[in-house]
Amino acid sequence: MSSATIIDGKAIAQTIRSEIAVEVQRLSQTYNKVPGLAVVIVGKRKDSQSYVGMKRKACAELGIKSFDIDLPEDVSQSDLITKLHQLNANPDVHGILVQLPLPKHINEEKILTEISLEKDVDGFHPLNIGKLAMKGRDPLFVPCTPKGCLELLSRSGISVKGKNAVVVGRSNIVGLPVSLLLLKADATVTVVHSHTKEPETIIRNADIIIAAAGQAKMIKGSWIKAGAAVIDVGTNAVDDPSKKSGYRLVGDVDFEEASKVAGWITPVPGGVGPMTVAMLLKNTLDGAKRVIEHS
Ligand code: NAP
Repeated sequence: MSSATIIDGKAIAQTIRSEIAVEVQRLSQTYNKVPGLAVVIVGKRKDSQSYVGMKRKACAELGIKSFDIDLPEDVSQSDLITKLHQLNANPDVHGILVQLPLPKHINEEKILTEISLEKDVDGFHPLNIGKLAMKGRDPLFVPCTPKGCLELLSRSGISVKGKNAVVVGRSNIVGLPVSLLLLKADATVTVVHSHTKEPETIIRNADIIIAAAGQAKMIKGSWIKAGAAVIDVGTNAVDDPSKKSGYRLVGDVDFEEASKVAGWITPVPGGVGPMTVAMLLKNTLDGAKRVIEHS
C-alpha cells in the first residue's frame, strides 16, 4: 500500500504543453510568427532517433516549426559547425538542439560552444551553465531535465527554500545543473557521487531527493526520511521476460519500498521523462518570445 502522493509527470507535462500551445497561437496571431526549433542528429543510433522523433512530433503538435537536420555518421566536424552557423544566422530558428552523444570523431565540447547562446535551448553552453552557477546571474536557458525536476516540485506545491536537498549524481546534464538550480532556489544542497562514503546516511537527512545516478533501485525505502519528496530521474532497463521487449524501465529508487515512506514520489516511467520534452518546448517558446516580442 502506498502512502506517498504520486507525482504524475505525464499529466503535469501535458498541462505545460497546453500552456505552450496557447502562447504559440498568441504569437502566431499577434506577430504572424511561430517559434522554430532545429533538431540536429548525426548518424542513425536507434535511441537518439527515437528521442529526436519524440521532440519533432511534440513540436508539430504544438505548432512549433521543426527544422529537421539529419547528417550522416561520417559528417566532418567542420561541416557540422558550418550547419550550426547557418542555423545560428536563420531568424526563423529560435532554438538549436544537437542530439548527444555525437560520433567519436566529433568534439562534443567544441560543438556545444558553436551554438549561439541565444539559441542554446538545451542549456549546455558553458556560459549558460556558468551563469547558472553564479549568484545574481541568470542563464538564458536552463537544461531541460533539471528544469523539469524543479517544475515537478513547484507544481506539486513542494517548497524548496531552506530544505535539505540531496542530489545523487553529478553529471553535466542532470546532477550538476539540478544541484545548482536547487541552490539558486535556496535549498541546502549535498551532492552524492560514486566516491561518497555511506550515501544512505546523507540521503536519510534529505527533505528532497533528486536521484540521477543511473543505478537501478539503488535507493532503498530505509534510506528515505518519512515525508520526503523523491524525484527519480534514473531510467534503467532491467530484464523482464514477462514483457514482449524482454525488459522494463525502473528508476534509481526502489519505488515499492520508497512509496511507503516518502511524502511524494515520481514513478518511472511517467515522472521526469515527459517533463524533459515539455521543458525543451518551453525553452524554445521562451527563446522565440525574447526575439519576436522585442524586435
Ligand atoms: P551519468 O552521466 O552516468 O552520471 C551518473 C552520475 O551518478 C555520476 O555523477 C556518478 O558519479 C553517479 N553515480 C553512479 N553510481 C553511483 C553510486 N552507486 N552512488 C552514487 N553516485 C553514483 O548519468 P546521467 O546522464 O546523469 O543520467 C543519470 C540517470 O538519469 C540515467 O539513468 C539516465 O538514463 C537518466 N536520465 C533520464 C532523463 C529523463 O529525461 N528522464 C534525462 C537524462 C538522464 P561519478 O561522477 O563519481 O562517476
